Amino acid sequence: MLYKVTETKKNNYIELIKWIKCLNARSYEIVFQKPLKALRLCKCAYHLAQKCGCQEERAFSLLVTGYAHKGLSNNTKCIKNMLVAVQLFEHLGHLQGKMRALNLLGTNYFYFGAYELSLEYYNESLGLARGMADKAAEASILNNIGEIHRQLEQYREALIYYENAFVMSKDLNNLRNMAGILINMGYIYSYLNQNIKTLNIYRESLNYCRKIGDKIKIGEVLNCLGEAYEKLQKEQVALQYYLNSLRVLKKYGNMYYRINVLVRIGELLIKQNQQDRGLACLQEALSIGEKISAENELSKIHLSLSAYYEDKGNFAMALHHYKRFSLLEKKIRNEKLEEKLKLAATEFRIEQMKNEAEIFRLKNIELKRRNEEIKENARLLTLANQKMLKFQEQLKTANQRLKLLSTIDEVTGISNRRSFENTLKKEWNRCLREGKDLSLIIVDIDNFKRYNDSYGHLQGDKCLRKVAKVLESILKRSSDFMGRFGGEEFAAILSNTSYDDALKIADRMRRRIEKMKIVHEQSAIVSYITISLGLATTMPSYGEDHMNLVKAADQKLYQAKDQGRNRICSVRLR
Ligand code: GH3
Ligand code: MG
Ligand code: MG
Repeated sequence: MLYKVTETKKNNYIELIKWIKCLNARSYEIVFQKPLKALRLCKCAYHLAQKCGCQEERAFSLLVTGYAHKGLSNNTKCIKNMLVAVQLFEHLGHLQGKMRALNLLGTNYFYFGAYELSLEYYNESLGLARGMADKAAEASILNNIGEIHRQLEQYREALIYYENAFVMSKDLNNLRNMAGILINMGYIYSYLNQNIKTLNIYRESLNYCRKIGDKIKIGEVLNCLGEAYEKLQKEQVALQYYLNSLRVLKKYGNMYYRINVLVRIGELLIKQNQQDRGLACLQEALSIGEKISAENELSKIHLSLSAYYEDKGNFAMALHHYKRFSLLEKKIRNEKLEEKLKLAATEFRIEQMKNEAEIFRLKNIELKRRNEEIKENARLLTLANQKMLKFQEQLKTANQRLKLLSTIDEVTGISNRRSFENTLKKEWNRCLREGKDLSLIIVDIDNFKRYNDSYGHLQGDKCLRKVAKVLESILKRSSDFMGRFGGEEFAAILSNTSYDDALKIADRMRRRIEKMKIVHEQSAIVSYITISLGLATTMPSYGEDHMNLVKAADQKLYQAKDQGRNRICSVRLR
């Protein structure tokens, strides 16, 4: 409608500009709720502004186009528009616009996992926000930078950024930002297993969400609270929160989040032996996922169903879901690669546009001669290739860094060997400084090779997970550490723990595993899984090698095996 009116009045220049501004303002107003409709309006504004040479409105409509594409998850298109918008705003000396376009670029590269590039854009945007003393923008960019650190598992840095962003948002009384930042902080505390703190943070966030009446956010926080309660093993409370979250999200939320909550509810119900209700939830999640082609979500659900059926011994169904899972994973990987290639091609086109039509016209320079153009194209091609290589390189380093930062063992989900080494050094030095006892327990599953041989490797892995989980749950102090030492061996580091106390813990471990009665018909000891344990305690002294403690515990483990297994052998050094 608006477009037609505009068309009829195009002879009147002032009137036309007024309509373009009106189109831009309207599309910005609705872009976060109705991105598709906003996209139509701002594209129309863009073409009209281009026709009448109104650069400022043209740049602004590009910015709104970017927000719309972001809302529609068209990351490549969003990047393309923002690279042009940055140039235009720069040329117009419009810092506010440039800052917002840069921020959006940062966010889009973040979605691609190109964290270093994303950080570059955020930092440039942050500099502009600070220069203009735009506190609201500064807070939002700080939060975005926090998100990068969180992705790279640099939690301490992430928390510093979030806290700064939070304080600023509080000064501005921006409850929406405050609620969002708290959710991000909650994710970290939850990951660090600071469960009570997580709970309080989510509760505070819920408070703010309710004050501003943001129903979608309320649904999200309720889901987070459910997760926090589940971690505290308050499953009934968790279930109530999940169900409340689902109710709110069914009315207001997006489909992806709904799937997420349904999966949580399904898995929890299955855990509580309410198989039928649980499976119904997972099925509902599957059918929503299929309707909206949410491949990532579908893949997770199939994996979860496969584990469920495997557990029930229904290997046909387990295989069926596993196949679907692996097909989806392959597809997701291919799509990601395609996106990256598209991005590289886009960057190439942008370079071309910057250098040819756009910039040249803006600066009123004549078009270059034909052969110069050809030369220029060749240069751009090399440039685009270099950029693509740089992009791949950055992606590779970010992935490598993520891998290096990993402290979790993939099979059992508890800490890995690398984390064990680091913790042992740290706790050794701490006990050395404080003159305290340090105890180390090495645990080894008895006759585990036979277990694998009779029940298969997958079942073996499952047994390892069960044992790991139980051993970990026995340790209560925050300084206690439980990790996978290798193969079917686990190690507990007990800082500031005496020989007698460590012996009690080792005994608890042995008894708890025995009590689980995990069937092992081929065991030479009894017909279920048992463990042998080697314990060593020492008070670290200067110049002593911490590996002595490991060797001593290991020797004791051998002794326990020699003496018939399913027992503890221990030594107090010094
Ligand atoms: P012992 O009582 O003397 O400890 O006997 P064992 O059979 O447990 O010890 P051995 O060292 O002979 O065999 C350990 C077995 O643990 C060999 C391997 O099949 C199994 N194992 C090691 N890592 C894994 C794993 O990641 N998954 C599974 N399923 N099995 C593993
Ligand atoms: Mg072993
Ligand atoms: Mg063993």
